[in-house]
Amino acid sequence: MTPEQFRQHGHEVVDWIADYWTRIGSFPVRSQVSPGDVRASLPASAPEQGEPFSAVLADLDRVVLPGVTHWQHPGFFGYFPANTSGPSVLGDLVSAGLGVQGMSWVTSPAATELEQHVLDWFAELMGLPESFRSTGTGGGVVQDSSSGANLVALLAALHRASKGATVRHGVRPEDHTVYVSAETHSSMEKAARIAGLGTDAIRVVEVDGDLAMSPGALRQRLARDVARGYTPVLVCATVGTTSTTAVDPLAELGPICQEYGVWLHVDAAYAGVSAVVPELRALQAGVEWADSYTTDAHKWLLTGFDATLFWVADRAALTGALAILPEYLRNAATDTGAVVDYRDWQIELGRRFRALKLWFVVRWYGAEGLREHIRSHVAWAQELAGWADADDRFDVAAPHPLSLVCLQPRWAADVDADVATMTLLDRLNDGGEVFLTHTTVGGAAVLRVAIGAPTTTREHVQRVWTLLGEAHDWLANDFAEQARE
Ligand code: PLP
Repeated sequence: MTPEQFRQHGHEVVDWIADYWTRIGSFPVRSQVSPGDVRASLPASAPEQGEPFSAVLADLDRVVLPGVTHWQHPGFFGYFPANTSGPSVLGDLVSAGLGVQGMSWVTSPAATELEQHVLDWFAELMGLPESFRSTGTGGGVVQDSSSGANLVALLAALHRASKGATVRHGVRPEDHTVYVSAETHSSMEKAARIAGLGTDAIRVVEVDGDLAMSPGALRQRLARDVARGYTPVLVCATVGTTSTTAVDPLAELGPICQEYGVWLHVDAAYAGVSAVVPELRALQAGVEWADSYTTDAHKWLLTGFDATLFWVADRAALTGALAILPEYLRNAATDTGAVVDYRDWQIELGRRFRALKLWFVVRWYGAEGLREHIRSHVAWAQELAGWADADDRFDVAAPHPLSLVCLQPRWAADVDADVATMTLLDRLNDGGEVFLTHTTVGGAAVLRVAIGAPTTTREHVQRVWTLLGEAHDWLANDFAEQARE
């Protein structure tokens, strides 16, 4: 493809995306295909000869779109959001066009320095501690996901706890312990497995009634493990748990971690970016105790996957765990020690120029635009919780400090509540206008309404509430009729 052909077809693709965004609300939110449908519409073998670009574009509509669940749809309320936006896509396009591989400073100084700078901007925008800035002892880096960031944090913590011994001798799974709660994201357990600790190293700390990690229980477990000769490595505190957005109390957990010399990692994958709004920062009070912190701009900050913002307070622990310098990567800049080589801050060697999309996003929206994005979702979530509170068909199942509301439908005593709730969910999602997911709270099925798609407005939140009520009425009547028969 020549540059001129690229110009022509590039315009066509941008038009296609713009058209998609314009009509996105007309699609059923969840893909309607059955397993195997997408593959069945593809030829068995790759094309022998190149095809006209128009054929590829046509197949986006014919093959791809039917198999897409529309995460940017205004009726998408499932999981946590996965935002994208015009500036993010354009930043990614430039990154793809430049095609640089930013593993070392020397392989493209702009890729490294823009990333350092943008991460410093975000640390400031979110009111994160000075120690996280590149000008202090720490620094920020873009990771592929918070799951990856959790693993990297654990490796750094192991390096510190073992005084560097893991690099030469590996981990001692029988000695090391890691602290989570039952609400911690599963990626932390996966990280313990990948790091070679295994699940036996994991201690599940009790939670309180709001599903937040109990500081008293953490202290007890640490004391018991230390007395038995274990070396506690890392405590994973979550700001905004996956199920319900519970918030572990950093200000109380932090001093305990310091007392026991344990690395405090804060997993704020979804909720962290809310700290761009000053009045929401109280949720993260105590963040200055954190040794590391992760949040996903690709969830709720208008930036396309992947864009995990990860900070450490002591970069030496991270690079101590991960730095490796084979001869073929040696260069004068690295030898001076004056530059950051981001390959030493992550699992992979190669890395894309992801800072570009973050830079485009923050420059297009400005800090005020980002705050407005978060503020409106939080406000609508509080309204939704208020409507549910005032309605005897639903209970609000958990605290809702941000933009997720967990709703527990009420059913007649003779109805299996979990089955009824899941039937209600299927009915809503089959309708195609909205898409929700579920979790369990206290063992009971609840509906999660996660507000955060960039196209969602207050009217869409009103609409999902209306649809919830209608589906509840319809099902409740159905159950009552069945009972009468
Ligand atoms: N941590 C928490 C608290 C999450 O809620 C999630 C995903 O929802 C993750 C980690 C994993 O995020 P990622 O998809 O970026 O790996």
